[in-house]
Amino acid sequence: MTVSVVLFTSDLRLHDHPPLRAAVEAAHEVVPLFVRDPAVDRAGFAAPNRLAFLADCLADLDAGLRERGGRLVVRDGDTVAEVCRVVRQADADEVHMAAGHSVFARAREARLRGALESDGRRLYVHDAVTTVVPPGDVTPQGSEHFAVFTPYFRRWVSEPLRTPLAAPRSVPVPRSVRSDRPPARASVADVSPGLATGGESEGRRRLGAWLSRHADAYEAGHDDLAGDATSRLSPYLHFGAVSATEAVHRARARGGAGAEAFVRQLCWRDFHHQVLAARPETAVEDYRPRHDRWRRGEEAEGDLRAWREGRTGYPVVDAALRQLAYEGWMHNRGRLLAASFLTKTLYLDWREGARHFLSLLVDGDVANNQLNWQWVAGTGTDSRPNRVLNPVLQGKRYDPDGAYVRYWVPELAALPGPSVHEPWRLKGLDRAEYAYPDPIVDLADGLSRFRDARGRDWDRT
Ligand code: FAD
Repeated sequence: MTVSVVLFTSDLRLHDHPPLRAAVEAAHEVVPLFVRDPAVDRAGFAAPNRLAFLADCLADLDAGLRERGGRLVVRDGDTVAEVCRVVRQADADEVHMAAGHSVFARAREARLRGALESDGRRLYVHDAVTTVVPPGDVTPQGSEHFAVFTPYFRRWVSEPLRTPLAAPRSVPVPRSVRSDRPPARASVADVSPGLATGGESEGRRRLGAWLSRHADAYEAGHDDLAGDATSRLSPYLHFGAVSATEAVHRARARGGAGAEAFVRQLCWRDFHHQVLAARPETAVEDYRPRHDRWRRGEEAEGDLRAWREGRTGYPVVDAALRQLAYEGWMHNRGRLLAASFLTKTLYLDWREGARHFLSLLVDGDVANNQLNWQWVAGTGTDSRPNRVLNPVLQGKRYDPDGAYVRYWVPELAALPGPSVHEPWRLKGLDRAEYAYPDPIVDLADGLSRFRDARGRDWDRT
């Protein structure tokens, strides 16, 4: 009887899972394994919303495996030590896993390979499981990564796409391997009240429903804050509960401008992964230093606190930050506005904003969070690094009726139409009654502070 082990990491699904397919084909029995490694928490990857969503994903994976005659084995401890222990208990010949691209994942993989090979076992690492195109597969001449999105997209979009794999019909798991208790969502404290349900079943349901009902409205509506027309698939993609390759495949099969625009967004995900894989230090350091001397000190701390709490006095910015606190997710336009306001209008360090986002975002990941923050801050890959988003104009453009603000900032619910974006302009209103703060900064002052800091080459949107 031959046995193989599949180590699940950021790929918590049964459909389109090359390591699982290879393991099932290679052996009579398979151990589907997930290790809860405290090093992941220590590396700063854990946050209550993501832990709760992870618990849902593991429960759903276990249920899917049980339908196929198996179960998920969960172990607590160091990944390498636990995999080796399971391999010995099951007398497995080989381990299959998805390639990871972070420094942490690559170090873990190297340690695991060494430990298994010294014990006469083999590690198979499968590419294109967590991204559509693996980092480093498409490169410009003379560099190991693309620094600009559009040329990357041109190459990415013409790469051959592997055909998505069906879920295996049966996954026989050896009885002898014990499992620790899987984490439960209910045991995670401080979870956002409106957090989505995790898991492959829910992710697949959303992908199907969104493609069939909403994809057509995506191109025109993806920036409409109240319209909420985006797929909300980011957490499922982050945990690998939905395969990005399968999402591209199904969107292309669906066709239309909306589905194509969605595919382009999925490319952004790979774009940031290939930047971070080539320049891992940009998780904390500027990709393109602008010699910023971000504001510090007591006043800056007060502004940062107001921003985190969604009390800046700029309704659309506050609405976005309150959506983040309540749902553990924020609309992309809200992320752009909140990040531009922090880094440019308040001139506060992008790392502070990124940290707050990572503490709450259910889709929070180092590549996409840190590099999007840098893109907005102008220290990253944006070709217009000094553009400043005006929260009033942007609010009127992307929330023209004010419905998004009224929903998330109930203090302003009585204000009609777009007037909600400038509550300070309304006459005869009793401020104390609507209990909403005055703006913490004058936009013109913020703009000239930023302009002075960045020197000559600045512009404004
Ligand atoms: P859709 O519009 O339906 O797009 C489909 C998918 O494409 C998304 O699920 C996502 O996987 C990908 N995608 C879309 N836009 C981007 C983008 N700009 N960069 C990378 N991938 C993208 N996304 C994350 O997944 N994790 C993060 O931690 C994260 N942090 C961000 C921080 C800031 C400051 C900004 C401006 C953006 C951030 N994004 C992040 C990107 C984007 O906001 C989210 O991916 C998107 O809002 C998720 O919603 P959706 O699934 O409905 O997206």
